[in-house]
Amino acid sequence: MTKNSQYSDHERILTGVRPTGPLHLGHYVGALENWLDLQPKYDCFFLIADYQVSDHADDFDRVRKSVFDVALDWLSIGLDPEQSHFVIESAVPEHAELTTWLSWWTPLGMLQRNPTLKAELTEIENQSAKRSAPLAFFNYPMMQVSNILMPKAHLVPTGEDQQPHIEMSREIARKFNNITGRELFPEPQGLIGRVGRLVGIDGQAKMSKSLNNAIFLGDSQEDVLKKVRKMYTDPNRIHATDPGRVEGNPVFIYHDAFNPNTNEVDDLKERYRAGTVGDVEVKTLLADAINRFLEPSREKRHEYESKPNLVREALEAGSNHARKIAQETMRDVRDALGINYFKD
Ligand code: AMP
Repeated sequence: MTKNSQYSDHERILTGVRPTGPLHLGHYVGALENWLDLQPKYDCFFLIADYQVSDHADDFDRVRKSVFDVALDWLSIGLDPEQSHFVIESAVPEHAELTTWLSWWTPLGMLQRNPTLKAELTEIENQSAKRSAPLAFFNYPMMQVSNILMPKAHLVPTGEDQQPHIEMSREIARKFNNITGRELFPEPQGLIGRVGRLVGIDGQAKMSKSLNNAIFLGDSQEDVLKKVRKMYTDPNRIHATDPGRVEGNPVFIYHDAFNPNTNEVDDLKERYRAGTVGDVEVKTLLADAINRFLEPSREKRHEYESKPNLVREALEAGSNHARKIAQETMRDVRDALGINYFKD
């Protein structure tokens, strides 16, 4: 598989996903949709961040499976390894090396102030009072900084929760350039998706596999219908004749995100507010819309599931390419730091 070199002069994108399981609708509207849009315009590195799943340290089989599940999801929705690079983070061990160097210029306070890290730490501690987060957990934003700076990325399309990490990347790129007197790393820009943080089907603030409140891109029609039927709506609305609240109601947030028939959505909202439509109708039309949205990727998924070699080849080719770029960057870093010890 060869990379189409017509894009090599374009600016670069680096973005990624942690291999914690299959991808869901939140991933799509938060990030993947932008990736698809930007894929023809940028030289894209899509990374599966397997150094960053220390919360699954007791289950490497799951990490391994998730790496392939994520790649399958990417291919199914139309990310194209002929245009972009699918990269496994640990297949480019230079990421670990760059993380070590860059951590020299990362004050601990920068991590301690990182709101996403703080929120995730609280979540870990709430899961079990006895469990304390491993050192690798505190290092994962640093790893992300290295992922972004390694290909000298200009743009990082992600969901809202990743913004503090991108801000760190900007700060560390600036510091490194100042200290070494070389403009080695561009300051990357973040780009948040259409819905920066999609709520879960249970109404929790974020759809997430670990919260068991996700509709997956690979869910069947029946699964989607079952999950939508269980969805949280306006808790104060007991009967279909009660006027309901549309704002902040997960069912309508999803209609806005996944139902392109705006006339239908406006009509449902109006009738919901007036108490002249039942939840069953609102939810059935939502499940239909989500199923229509997922249908094209189901066909592609089916095709790739029968050809697992294509998934593997995409990951191998992308990782090999990324490794070459990483070795070039590391040569530049060593030059800038004056530690190319054996170079004349
Ligand atoms: P993760 O699975 O945490 O590695 O996230 C991969 C990408 O998807 C990141 O850019 C996240 O910000 C984005 N993402 C994950 N869950 C959601 C969600 N519920 N809503 C919006 N974006 C999300």
